[in-house]
Amino acid sequence: MADKINVGVLGATGMVGQRYIKLLEDHPWFKVTYVAASPRSAGKAYKEAVANRWLIGANIPCDVKDLIVQDANDPKAALGKCRFVFSALEMGKDEIKALEAAYAAEGIPVVSNASANRWTEDVPMLIPEINYSHLDVIAEQKKHHGWDKGFVAVKPNCSLQTYMMPLYALQQAGYPVKRMIVTTLQAVSGAGYPGVPSFDMIDNIVPYIGGEEEKTEKECLKILGSVKDGKIENAAGPIVSSTCTRVPVIDGHTASVNLEFDLPEDKKPSLEEVLKVWENFKSLPQELKLPSAPEHPIVYREEENRPQPNRDRDTEKGMACVLGRLRKCNVFDIKFVALSHNTKRGAALGGILNAELLKAKGFFD
Ligand code: NAP
Repeated sequence: MADKINVGVLGATGMVGQRYIKLLEDHPWFKVTYVAASPRSAGKAYKEAVANRWLIGANIPCDVKDLIVQDANDPKAALGKCRFVFSALEMGKDEIKALEAAYAAEGIPVVSNASANRWTEDVPMLIPEINYSHLDVIAEQKKHHGWDKGFVAVKPNCSLQTYMMPLYALQQAGYPVKRMIVTTLQAVSGAGYPGVPSFDMIDNIVPYIGGEEEKTEKECLKILGSVKDGKIENAAGPIVSSTCTRVPVIDGHTASVNLEFDLPEDKKPSLEEVLKVWENFKSLPQELKLPSAPEHPIVYREEENRPQPNRDRDTEKGMACVLGRLRKCNVFDIKFVALSHNTKRGAALGGILNAELLKAKGFFD
């Protein structure tokens, strides 16, 4: 316990913030010593701030319930209380961008779930199994801002976590992808709490999520990009066309994916070869044995009616990309169904894995 790194959670009272609090309860490396949220919650004990809206299991972790919630808009309040912060704030983009920079300027690194800094060219947007090499831009980011210990690293949107891992595994194996059509069926927890009104969600599907299709189509290009002159240069492809829908599921985003390879007909992989690539896929988090890394980042379900959010979202503690229904596509080359836990891999546990990678690479030393 004495060797654990003290961490803070900004937005600790929200949907993703609560996930952080619960998931960090018994974390081997990190201990929550600081919680912050809006001025509405500031000054209250955490248990009072989340009374009647605690969503994650029966009890609030003992170590956190009596911490006094601080105002997240005051980075100086975190000084000396934690080594770095997870940011799960829901505010205007410009406000979040300025606030995350203010924490970094105070020497407090920010591991963020917010979208505000995803397109900042010297901020890595990490999926540790895919683009760990983007950590190289942090040195340039610190130099550019004159920050000593502070920096910002972010996570991508939760919707594309459904298809990024199988896509990357195929590209790595020598099967580049040219075009994809992705239709997502996204859980209500993705909209935070209280989220979408129940009148819109029960007995219904909402075929629109503001801003989501743009993120699903474009963020993959930065994730697959490469570091050049201290900045991330986006990849040229694949081209993604997406339709994002909200469905009455609590947790777990599902996606139906159709994909075309950028290869001549005789070089395209068979379904068996695709499956083999997915089954064998492992990367740096698995090599480093990071505490939250899934042993199998991609899990393929053979049953014809899987994956299903209710049954499969917690595979590998909610960190696996669960795939199924791989078959030939009459328009593109292959099609399949993908599932990822949006508040675990897609949000808090994905953020924790990012922090574990940063720690393993010495960024908190
Ligand atoms: P949420 O449930 O609405 O929680 C928002 C948090 O931000 C609360 O702690 C809230 O504090 C705090 N906050 C709101 N206004 C503030 C202000 N003016 N100053 C300081 N703190 C303020 O949202 P969420 O779903 O957890 O999402 C949090 C972030 O994660 C967002 O940026 C979202 O885009 C991102 N994200 C979410 C998911 C997901 O699956 N939900 C996935 C990936 C990324 P109070 O409780 O005091 O109001």
